[in-house]
Amino acid sequence: MSVEQALSIIKPDGVQKNLVGEIVGRFEKAGLEIIAARMIHLSREQAEEFYAVHKERPFFDDLVSYMMSGPVMVLVLQGDSAINANRKIMGATNPADAELGTIRADFAESIEENIVHGSDGPDTALQEIAFFFGDGGICPRTRQDCTK
Ligand code: ATP
Ligand code: MG
Repeated sequence: MSVEQALSIIKPDGVQKNLVGEIVGRFEKAGLEIIAARMIHLSREQAEEFYAVHKERPFFDDLVSYMMSGPVMVLVLQGDSAINANRKIMGATNPADAELGTIRADFAESIEENIVHGSDGPDTALQEIAFFFGDGGICPRTRQDCTK
């Protein structure tokens, strides 16, 4: 196991359903650390660029509309095998196929509106973290002894 970083997005339906704390709690209970977090309402350009890998797919326009339909929370998760750990906590893309107890099985309405995004590999994790936090905002988990 190696320490990794993964990008997570709590998508507009997750924020609207007031699930930020619930979702962050699941990450923390699984031992993942939040090292960056920010709320943002994506523009069309940002949503299109973020999901550019899907631009030839028939669902692309709906995906972009969904991602810009309300604010999202973007997070960087850090921990052992953080990329796979996050994907396990999220569950399968289609909530109908997601294992019980995963975020998508518990809260998602459909394959279109599925509550969370997670990086799917080391390369995309790097790219996605740079996309949202390239200008800063990552806070390493250092803590000084303030009793001295
Ligand atoms: P994400 O990238 O958001 O973490 P994922 O990696 O599980 O999800 P992808 O195949 O990358 O799944 O699809 C990106 C997103 O596009 C999905 O989360 C979902 O919102 C939407 N999507 C994927 N497949 C479909 C589909 N067949 N019909 C409609 N929307 C879809
Ligand atoms: Mg994906």
